[in-house]
Amino acid sequence: MLKALPVRKFDAVIVGAGGSGLRAALELSHAGLKVAALSKVFPTRSHTVAAQGGVGAALGNMGEDNWHWHMYDTVKGSDWLGDQDAIEFMCKMAPEVVIELEHFGMPFDRNDNGTIYQRPFGGHSQNFGEKPVQRSCCAADRTGHAMLHALYQRNVLAKTQFFVEWMALDIIKDAEGRVLGVTAMEMETGEIVIFQGKATLFATGGAGRIYAYSTNAFINTGDGLGMAARAGFPIEDSEFWQFHPTGVAGAGVLITEGVRGEGGILLNKDGERFMERYAPTMKDLASRDVVSRAMATEIKEGRGAGEHADYILLKLDHLGPEVINKRLPGIREIAKKFANVDPVKEPIPVVPTCHYHMGGIPTNYRGEVVVPKGADKASVVAGFYAAGECGCASIHGANRLGTNSLTDLLVMGKSSGMSIIEFLKSDGLTHPELPKDAGEYSVARVARLDAQKDGASVDATRAEIQRTMQGHCGVFRFPDLMEQGVAKIRALEGNIGRLQITDKSKVFNTARIEALELENLYEVARATMVSAEARKETRGSHDRADFHARDDVNWLKHSLWYKEGDRLDYKAVNLKPLSVDSFAPKARVY
Ligand SMILES: Cc1cc2nc3c(=O)[nH]c(=O)nc-3n(C[C@H](O)[C@H](O)[C@H](O)COP(=O)(O)OP(=O)(O)OC[C@H]3O[C@@H](n4cnc5c(N)ncnc54)[C@H](O)[C@@H]3O)c2cc1C
Repeated sequence: MLKALPVRKFDAVIVGAGGSGLRAALELSHAGLKVAALSKVFPTRSHTVAAQGGVGAALGNMGEDNWHWHMYDTVKGSDWLGDQDAIEFMCKMAPEVVIELEHFGMPFDRNDNGTIYQRPFGGHSQNFGEKPVQRSCCAADRTGHAMLHALYQRNVLAKTQFFVEWMALDIIKDAEGRVLGVTAMEMETGEIVIFQGKATLFATGGAGRIYAYSTNAFINTGDGLGMAARAGFPIEDSEFWQFHPTGVAGAGVLITEGVRGEGGILLNKDGERFMERYAPTMKDLASRDVVSRAMATEIKEGRGAGEHADYILLKLDHLGPEVINKRLPGIREIAKKFANVDPVKEPIPVVPTCHYHMGGIPTNYRGEVVVPKGADKASVVAGFYAAGECGCASIHGANRLGTNSLTDLLVMGKSSGMSIIEFLKSDGLTHPELPKDAGEYSVARVARLDAQKDGASVDATRAEIQRTMQGHCGVFRFPDLMEQGVAKIRALEGNIGRLQITDKSKVFNTARIEALELENLYEVARATMVSAEARKETRGSHDRADFHARDDVNWLKHSLWYKEGDRLDYKAVNLKPLSVDSFAPKARVY
């Protein structure tokens, strides 16, 4: 029997202090609850800070708009894999949460009449796909930065307790399957502590680091998904990864779709605006999967630009220095720094780059984690919630529209907060007793890591995972490559079980943190590879060379991957909205 770990008790434990975690924390702290928010980095360094283009809401400040059109665009963008109850919920609530954010102090760009400025964005349309609409509320090209700071400051005012540079390690469950909190390591000291919550919310963000080329921060290692998988929870729709059309070639840094929203265009080596061929109506503002595929096809067929014909040109000089400096100042800076071009004069070299995970921990639109139990494919897990990019409600289905993640953070952050408040008033009044062995699993995991000799290298294993995902599960997916990919990723399990670190010190040991992160990253890569190989159709971001069409008869369903047994299960897509008529599946053209 190990020495008992210290226990800290809260009403709610939130893992993650990005946009979704902070929005949920605010809801709970405002309700007078005792809230802990854990983060691997200072809250305002969470990846939300990097969001550029904006947050989507049908405010109608720049012409007619309404949430029903936003809902249609989101359903269509998802290639009908999104759950329509969750999509209706988000689109309807979007204007309210954006105005709330404005009142929290968010410095949005303004129109002359004082309303929030909105720019066009990919896949967002007026009147059910007729023409582009201006729906993205933004603060220049630094929307996430402004949003995260506004939310953080509000949380400080509301007395949310922050645990900065703490890494959650594992979920604590009891015999009945209730979630009671997490174990976490303080990076400064290496100490492991139990954070016990009447409710636990995961808001751990994305996992884009499973790919070699990614717009994501280095901390986006899918920790929430790894912890959930180890605790026996499934990962939903993991095969759906968004490749953003415009990452800087060679660097991966993101160039916002807002560039095309403001009028930028994509050109091949012949100077042709090729999107006119692929998407005659929406052109450069078609949905991201459509644009990324068009770009990859141009490159594959030899029309890429540059010495190796391996990138596409993003031209925006025709917008003029005034628009670029006012609306896209960060982009000019990034282009100069990472591509060595000044977009006021020259086009930016760009390639499709891994950007966003549509999959995640299965929840309903209330943010409650749901798992199959007997005949019920969506039974609520007591005390466990997920929001933001690590959750899968599923709003984005097989492909997310730009600006809809920030909307998701606000809506699902608030919604999960409201669900927790309700839960704490009834079933979650007291802290259930911790199991006798609470935390032992984490302690053993860290002890194994510290004791490992002749083990596997963390860096080499991570690189191997990233190479495999990039080469075997990218924009286009080939059956033989995916099959090999599954074998390669499965073979790396041995490495994960014997990762070795040479620095064993306790204080700020980033080598240990990276090894623990890699264990999580591995689970996401495996879930992705296995789910992708199994899905025999093309839908949204999942484009198979051997099954070219969407197959609604056999595949209009969500994947659920389980770590135990490395197995898959499926559940139906909810085509039934809350109040309006369903949008029945149809061909997806832009
Ligand atoms: C470059 C870039 C630009 C983008 N632009 C836009 C945009 O314009 N519009 C849009 O809608 N979307 C955009 N997105 C997507 C969107 O920004 C993200 O999906 C979203 O910000 C994720 O927010 P989150 O709250 O889920 O997680 P994050 O903001 O990533 O925060 C995750 C939090 O979890 C913490 N955490 C993780 N693991 C642990 C652990 N083990 N222990 C403790 N804490 C942990 C982290 O420290 C962090 O605080 C962009 C994404 C990128 C990468």
